[in-house]
Parts: sequence; structure tokens; C-alpha cells
Amino acid sequence: MSQNEIACPTCGSAELASGLIVGRSPGVKFKKSRGILGDLAGIPLTTGLFNHSAPALRCAVCGTVVIQPER
Ligand SMILES: [Zn+2]
Repeated sequence: MSQNEIACPTCGSAELASGLIVGRSPGVKFKKSRGILGDLAGIPLTTGLFNHSAPALRCAVCGTVVIQPER
């Protein structure tokens, strides 16, 4: 399942890392799916977006997080 054919909407880079948006106290975070860190790690995003995890891509160049449509 290749999902990295989306270009960053901000800078146009194709270097998007697949991962998850994780909604959990103390906030919503982006986690790389291949990461070995626990729930305390991750890149904090704004709070109050989701109560569940959602598939997403994060641009390696500018940090824009792209939430993927449901499949
Ligand atoms: Zn970008």
C-alpha cells in the first residue's frame, strides 16, 4: 500500500513520512509509524482535533502534516 504519492501542499516536497495523528492526553500528536518511542514521544499538534488516531503524512522539509482521506 504505497501512500507517499502526495506532494506537500505547502512546499511541494514529496518527502512525506507516513504516520499517525494520535489524540490522547495531553494533546494530539503526530507519530511516525516506524518510530520505536512510546506514547510520550511524538510531535505535538493542536489540541481538540480528534479523539482517535488518524493516518497522516508529515512533510520532512517544512513540517506540514497532511491528514489522509479515509480509505
Ligand atoms: Zn512541505
